[in-house]
Amino acid sequence: NRQVILKRYVSGCPTVDDMEVVAGAVRLAVPPGSPAVLVKNLYLSCDPYMRTRMTRHSEHSNFVPDYVPGKVLDNCSVCKVVVSGHPDFKPGDLLWGVTGWEEYSLIPNPMFCHRINHHEFPLSYYTGVLGVPGLTAYAGLFEVAKAKKGEHVFVSAAAGAVGQIVGQLAKLTGCYVVGSAGSDQKVNLLKTKFGFDDAFNYKKELDLNAALKRCFPDGIDVYFENVGGAMLDAVLRNMRHRGRVAVCGQVSQYNLERPDGVDLFQLVGKHIRMEGFLVSEYSGDYYRRFEEEMARYLEEGKVVCVEDVAEGIEAAPAALVGLFAGHNVGKQVVAVARE
Ligand code: NDP
Repeated sequence: NRQVILKRYVSGCPTVDDMEVVAGAVRLAVPPGSPAVLVKNLYLSCDPYMRTRMTRHSEHSNFVPDYVPGKVLDNCSVCKVVVSGHPDFKPGDLLWGVTGWEEYSLIPNPMFCHRINHHEFPLSYYTGVLGVPGLTAYAGLFEVAKAKKGEHVFVSAAAGAVGQIVGQLAKLTGCYVVGSAGSDQKVNLLKTKFGFDDAFNYKKELDLNAALKRCFPDGIDVYFENVGGAMLDAVLRNMRHRGRVAVCGQVSQYNLERPDGVDLFQLVGKHIRMEGFLVSEYSGDYYRRFEEEMARYLEEGKVVCVEDVAEGIEAAPAALVGLFAGHNVGKQVVAVARE
């Protein structure tokens, strides 16, 4: 059972040397009388927030437990039941939920996992468009930012797992949508595949404020915030009165010891509502409604998604580290096994 372990706490940018792929022990059985299931992991999700778990935090500063050096990493995966101690689950059932970054995992309570309902799509979609990133885009855009038809929406990290879905959902709602991304290839994808009205490469813009003014001469109603730092500062200057900022993530800050300064005073004069949110608040029935709606969009071709699939568990550390250099084009996933 090959596993990806954290070798040491990370400071600054993570490197592949901060992790190690080791041979761990696996018992292809569940303890007698336990409701656990043993699963084979098929697809591992790579997510930027995993970096925030690689630093030792004081007790309450993080919303999920820190990773522990010497121990296996965990995150959402798509997996298949191999042995079941639970009456409602049988070998061959396909699930998604939190497992170790390893080939086989023991899940103590499979009731915390979701069943995979739509077999007509690639299974990996449940690490992306039909899983946490898709739900994050949907809940952030509609519940937090309350985007409405005709509004002007800006999305950062727009070609990534969350951003690509935010842009398409905003277009389906009848918004004017612009995204930023860190390469010309990604900008091209935003305009051609995902149907954004406009997009720019933030690494090539000398003045982010000017780039935003060019795309939004009349200002921004909704900002879907994925990156923080200088981009957030420039966006706030270009927000309209009573604009809303859904603070989803701040990937530019995750490798810093201390956050960049941002001019939050912009919120005051313009009555901008800026609201942080965690996708975990939107589980249960909300997820099921989202899953059905998104599956319909995919079937009808109204939403498409782009994935970046790394092959084999040995590729997992580099795939995770690559998120911070923008190597992933679309949702980063690791294929551990195809069936
Ligand atoms: P992505 O697929 O977008 O991958 C990360 C991307 O971030 C990279 O491809 C890169 O794209 C960009 N990036 C990396 N470093 C920087 C930097 N210094 N400045 C600007 N951009 C950078 O990741 P996700 O879609 O999975 O996540 C997007 C955001 O959503 C993250 O902030 C994440 O933490 C957050 N999130 C929040 C959730 C919640 O519940 N609130 C749930 C899920 C995700 P580029 O080439 O464009 O720079």
